[in-house]
Amino acid sequence: RQRLSRPERTRVFTTSNQKGGVGKTTTTVNLAAALARAGMRVLVIDIDPQGNASTALNVPHTSDVASVYDVLLDETEIHEAVQDAPDIDGLQVLPATIDLAGAEIELVSLVAREARLQKALDRYMTWREENGQERLDYVFIDCPPSLGLLTVNAFVAAEEVLIPIQAEYYALEGLSQLLKNVQMIQKHLNPRLRLSTILLTMFDSRTNLAVQVAEEVREHFPDQLLETAIPRNVRISEAPSYQQTVLTYDPTSAGAVAYREAAAEIALQGVPAAQ
Ligand code: ADP
Ligand code: MG
Repeated sequence: RQRLSRPERTRVFTTSNQKGGVGKTTTTVNLAAALARAGMRVLVIDIDPQGNASTALNVPHTSDVASVYDVLLDETEIHEAVQDAPDIDGLQVLPATIDLAGAEIELVSLVAREARLQKALDRYMTWREENGQERLDYVFIDCPPSLGLLTVNAFVAAEEVLIPIQAEYYALEGLSQLLKNVQMIQKHLNPRLRLSTILLTMFDSRTNLAVQVAEEVREHFPDQLLETAIPRNVRISEAPSYQQTVLTYDPTSAGAVAYREAAAEIALQGVPAAQ
């Protein structure tokens, strides 16, 4: 089992792409699991009303469970709502319940509505310190596929944007729109935000199109694109129906190997330099 060195401070990622089905949740939970199994302290914040990350990490997230909804809307603290992932040491989850579906609208009338997650996360880091818990190494926020107030909260709370992309024809077009959104957030709400990491998902090296798109992404984002691409792998897609990540479901599968490699690359990147 690999050991990775801890970053010099907590790295907060938001996994974003306005397209659905590109592997955001899969990437969030598997990278988080790989990092936790390599000895890191990791928190996953599920901010997608679908709650897929909560499901994959096997934490209860029915309506009666304290969740990210309560943190955003109800003054619940993260330390009151966070759960340990039962199958992976060192991994915690702030789950999403279906209540979150109404949060976009409920948030509109609140003070500092774009910064509620960021403030709660700051308080949680302080709470950990004051309660003798070790510093978090990684936080991953799993976003819904839209640029509403939930995603904006993720962009404001994070420092690094992680973009999973499926190597297909419209991938680059989607990427430039996403970059515009990141720049808009940088300008108005969170100057620390940067695109730090791009990961190719469901990659099929046998198709010319996939290889071509990969080359184009590499050309435009040589520093951000990870060397590792995640292959299309049936074990990855099976794992969530067993409430597992592929890391525990089938640790020797090509999917598990690839996510471990991607996690190691991210650890090696270290904290990104100021822009
Ligand atoms: P998003 O969060 O962007 O909507 P998901 O992570 O939920 O996307 O992935 C969409 C679907 O694709 C899911 O059914 C997931 O299991 C599947 N999937 C994701 N990555 C892979 C992969 N590398 N190989 C096979 N299936 C994958
Ligand atoms: Mg998702």
